[in-house]
Amino acid sequence: MKKVIAPYAVVQKYGGSSVADTERILNVARRVAAKVGSGSKAIVVVSAMGKTTDNLIKLSKQITGEPDAREMDMLLVTGEQISAALLAMALHTLGLRSKSLNAFQAGIKTTGRFTEAKIKLINKKKLESLLQDNDALVVTGFQGVTDDDELTTLGRGGSDTSAVALAAGMQYPCEIYSDVAGIYTCDPKLYPSAKKVRYISYDEMLELAASGAKVLHSRAVEIAKRYNITVYCGSSFSNEEGSYVVNEDTMIEKVVVSGLTTMDNQTQVVVKKLPVDYTLLRSIFEKVAEAELNIDMISIINNGQDLSVSFTIIDEKKKHLEAALKKVLKGFAGYAIEYNTGFVKVSVVGVGMKSGIGVAADFFKALNNIPIRLVTTSEIKISCLMEEKYKQTAINALAKKFKL
Ligand code: ASP
Ligand code: MG
Repeated sequence: MKKVIAPYAVVQKYGGSSVADTERILNVARRVAAKVGSGSKAIVVVSAMGKTTDNLIKLSKQITGEPDAREMDMLLVTGEQISAALLAMALHTLGLRSKSLNAFQAGIKTTGRFTEAKIKLINKKKLESLLQDNDALVVTGFQGVTDDDELTTLGRGGSDTSAVALAAGMQYPCEIYSDVAGIYTCDPKLYPSAKKVRYISYDEMLELAASGAKVLHSRAVEIAKRYNITVYCGSSFSNEEGSYVVNEDTMIEKVVVSGLTTMDNQTQVVVKKLPVDYTLLRSIFEKVAEAELNIDMISIINNGQDLSVSFTIIDEKKKHLEAALKKVLKGFAGYAIEYNTGFVKVSVVGVGMKSGIGVAADFFKALNNIPIRLVTTSEIKISCLMEEKYKQTAINALAKKFKL
């Protein structure tokens, strides 16, 4: 991939809180103007203002509990159009040449899966030619259009993905602005002395996102990784230096643990005394997947006589899961299912674990006497499940141990 050295343009994305009211939209306009003043053009991707998307969803719920997915997207795409048009107007007041574009006008093509569409391609030629006559283009995030001209959305938080996809397609650098000044080793609300990281790898970000960190949309990180796009994350409210999500190979110093996350509301499901029948086991996982239930932390014990399997699921999916298990275990007798709620998953992530020895030992040493129910690991992550009452103690101990 060709690297852009002296950028002709950048992609900047501003999240919902950065454009929450007209005052903030004017603030974003000034930041864009400063960028343009420094000699760069900009494609500015915006989210809907503040809680607009939530409010639109609430409106639909007042009409029906089961809104049609296509109509849902027709509704949700309006949010980003409001902020895009207002920002273009704000840019005009500062003397910039600017145009707002929705997904249709920007040519952001997606798959046809309403409310969860995936970006297929962008109209590079068109955007390039529009940029010739403008200083900044404002593009609606979170939305796309299918080959049949249907409007789609990319899933909650999808504007990050729009921005990174545009940066990848245009081969421009990507800057993502929100109300936090970068990526922290741990959510500062949970651990106030958490440090801001300067560089973090794609894989670490993906693991952190999957383990509960709400920093960047994971699909945005996947695209960044695939196209080797460095993503800068900073605040739209300050000029404090932010964090860079980068290719691991460019990281000179790989810290063993670069982040800690937690995921609340976990239920541990234990299915006991199943016959030792791996076909049955497979169909359990198949049925669960068919029901689109996301399970995690799987463990299987075969004691020779019978089989037990346990895994975690988010509390609110418990009913759904019960139904799926009932279906697949119909006709079997003697088994027992246990649902234990009130758990939290605590994970530490770091690329340095690949070569660091003794991370697991340090991890368990730090957790001391906290009873741990389940553990899973990947090459760069250790996660454990514990009762919610131990959460803060675990965070403090791990943050201290790994100098987060
Ligand atoms: N406005 C959309 C949402 O709230 C997309 C985004 O903010 O990224 O989910
Ligand atoms: Mg939003």
